[in-house]
Amino acid sequence: MVRGRALTTLATLAVFAATALLVAALALAAGWRPLESGGTPAASTSSPAPSATAPPASETVAPSPTPSASPKTTPAPTDTSPPATAPIVTPVPSAPGTASSLDLSASYDVDLALDYGTRRLDVDASIRVANTSKSYVDRLDLNTVAARLGNLQLDVATVDGVPVDIEIHDQTLLVPLPDGLEPGESATVRIAFRSTLRNGTDGSDWLFTRANGIIDAYRWLPWLSRDVPFDRPNHGDPFVTAVSPQVVVRITTDRAMILATTGERIGAASGAAGLTQTFVARNVRDFTVTASPSYRELTGASLDGDTTITVSTLPGEPAAAILSAARRALAGFEALVGPYPYPTLAIAQSAGGLGMEGPAIVWIPGSVASTNLDYLVHHEIAHQWFYALVGNDQAAQPFADEAAADFLARRVLGSRRASRCDTTRLDRDIANYSSACYYEIVYIQGGNLLDDLRKRMGSTAFFAGLNAYIDANRFALGSTQALLDALDAATPDDLRPAYAARFPGL
Ligand SMILES: [Zn+2]
Repeated sequence: MVRGRALTTLATLAVFAATALLVAALALAAGWRPLESGGTPAASTSSPAPSATAPPASETVAPSPTPSASPKTTPAPTDTSPPATAPIVTPVPSAPGTASSLDLSASYDVDLALDYGTRRLDVDASIRVANTSKSYVDRLDLNTVAARLGNLQLDVATVDGVPVDIEIHDQTLLVPLPDGLEPGESATVRIAFRSTLRNGTDGSDWLFTRANGIIDAYRWLPWLSRDVPFDRPNHGDPFVTAVSPQVVVRITTDRAMILATTGERIGAASGAAGLTQTFVARNVRDFTVTASPSYRELTGASLDGDTTITVSTLPGEPAAAILSAARRALAGFEALVGPYPYPTLAIAQSAGGLGMEGPAIVWIPGSVASTNLDYLVHHEIAHQWFYALVGNDQAAQPFADEAAADFLARRVLGSRRASRCDTTRLDRDIANYSSACYYEIVYIQGGNLLDDLRKRMGSTAFFAGLNAYIDANRFALGSTQALLDALDAATPDDLRPAYAARFPGL
């Protein structure tokens, strides 16, 4: 994800502290735009923030067309100190000796009802889970942000047709398996629930909302994961999920809407209940949905003709410029890290908030400053390699996806720059970076560290190592350690002295 620096109203800006205005002025001088969208003025003094506010400036987006109400701000601690805001919820450990849900595999067959008028989002999911681990498992951990943002109400919970009691813990549904699953065994979990989309874009609401004429539904589908706390003091992604070989989603809407999703549309039909469109996706670790009755679609092929790119935006947005940026990004990245892994790429204008990646889809908020659009599109598409193709625990090791994606984007754009925060370690989890410096440390310093390794190794060896990491972790979960090890293995040089001080926990 990338921090969204939104254009804001003068009135909103006026309430920022003088330091924030200074930062904004410096930002403009450096070619980027101040923001605001449920966001956080970079260096403003203000009350403690709720958990999931957006971070500081940076080259980034302009979020929602409508200015948010009062800006929520996070104290800007020094880079080295953990944020004051501690995660509210403690994880529930798996029982000893049992497999993590991340080691299992599941296919998902889902009916999703999206009611634009009432903001209702109803899900009926059949999840076929195979124990692909080497251990017994007696519980599944399925994550959905609907449990945190959507007032999720369970209607049906069964395992192989037998009702079970699901405990909801933070963003995780803890599903007991009454008979357990030995390695090689399978079970079908059915979960049906009602939820309600938020109606704004403040904090994390933009992940699960209907606002500004657009429905954003991120991680609405309960998915094999681990018990990750949703709250964090910055815009870090509190997610980690296993890849599914197949996801089929039938989406029924209350009115005609254009849908931009992770999947390929394989059918559409009108019915008494509204309009139903069917999508299928393969080798994905989420199924992201964006929808609007007002979208316009612009479709084009990638420069090599292999990928269909569809840009869905509201009227007045720069769809052609977005398509052009996406074409250049795909071509640039494929030359460095191999083929884009899906047949389609959806680029959807989101309701607001930040740029965001999903498998085969990226979200770009409206009204992004033209000087920032190219960067934002490149950063989010780079996540198709570092997040979608090679996953990682985004909460525990944000370096593995954010530093790698930002390195790739800036490599292609030629836009590396120095960090605006103090140099510090890169191996923390998202809970331990301040909102003010999360982007500057993990993305900028992290990307600069990778670029320094590239200079030391030479580009040929560096990209050989990066591609070896991708090949070894294709549609699986990589890690910061695996990434650095793969680079080290690609050169006779010993890279450890060059990076060890930045990763004391490894
Ligand atoms: Zn990102």
